[in-house]
Amino acid sequence: MNYFSSKKPYFIAGPCSAEDELQLSAVSEAFKKLPVDMMRAGVWKPRSKPGHFEGRGEEALKWLKEIRKTSSLPICIEVANKEQVELALQYEMDAVWIGARSTVNPFIVQEIADALKGNKVCVLIKNPINPDIELWSGALERVMNAGIENIAAIHRGFSSYDSLSKYRNKPNWAIPIELKRRYKDVPIFCDASHICGNRELIPYVAQRALDLDFDGLMIETHPDPDKALSDAQQQLTPDQLGQLLSSLIIRTPIDDCSQEEIEQIRQILDSMDAEVVDLLGKRMELVEKLGRIKGEYNMPVYQTDRWREIIDTRTQWGLKNGLDAEFISKLFELIHDKSIKTQIDLLMKIEADKK
Ligand code: PEP
Ligand code: MN
Repeated sequence: MNYFSSKKPYFIAGPCSAEDELQLSAVSEAFKKLPVDMMRAGVWKPRSKPGHFEGRGEEALKWLKEIRKTSSLPICIEVANKEQVELALQYEMDAVWIGARSTVNPFIVQEIADALKGNKVCVLIKNPINPDIELWSGALERVMNAGIENIAAIHRGFSSYDSLSKYRNKPNWAIPIELKRRYKDVPIFCDASHICGNRELIPYVAQRALDLDFDGLMIETHPDPDKALSDAQQQLTPDQLGQLLSSLIIRTPIDDCSQEEIEQIRQILDSMDAEVVDLLGKRMELVEKLGRIKGEYNMPVYQTDRWREIIDTRTQWGLKNGLDAEFISKLFELIHDKSIKTQIDLLMKIEADKK
């Protein structure tokens, strides 16, 4: 069994960066009272600009090795090249994570994977900074091909140029969901801290991840967040982490009885959807027939009055059936747009055939 599937949800927490021994022991001491399964701490910090705190390096590994001995918590750190992997192994780290800035680079991921070959260490792979599922999936495969069995993916959001976004890194949930569909046996965690960039939003994103059936969370935690040397705004105190973890609604697996009922309802939904698709097919046949008539009589394909009538009547019908007007109007805009496009394509083909 995958190491990270031992508990669901699996909780990883700890400071953005390992700053000093006191900070690390304060955090690991506080975690004894919390359901934290693994401690994180950055040892080498990837900073966008030079001149900022870049981590304590090997010295921090010495502290972490000590913490590992005194507390029973497994520890994970970030690695971004071969030398860092070798040091992580030398200091007996339980897990390493590949950061978002490394996942974008197949050369680096391959270098890390090669250095990991033949080792039992667990590996967590964050999504690349840009919303490209193939890079993420490629990184997973490079690490799997190196023979690493205990792998998990971490969703930490995607960079965007949208200055109005409330997130530091946009979640784009469809991407991690697709990754989960592709790799059913790879647990996927949500790093709510790097998605949010501020501590206020974290409970909302963490709950959202659990509702989407994520397998765990990674949350940055610092004894005195405002004084943190990196990512100060997004770290929680251990107390705040405790409150967050106890307030999360964990939807436990359904029992056999409700599973049966769900299956029955799904079967009915399947047959209803089949009818909807069947009707859409028949509708489209009529749209084509109508397109030919419009062509014969030289009528314009698009008629504003008809479009308005479609949207008005359908939203009225929707309201009578308890359906949201916006939903129905969007649905019929889509259907009508497709119908118009089908008729235009048809008329162009008829004209081309005449020539
Ligand atoms: C981190 O976890 O501290 C970090 C740098 O993460 P990311 O690679 O997601 O930016
Ligand atoms: Mn951080």
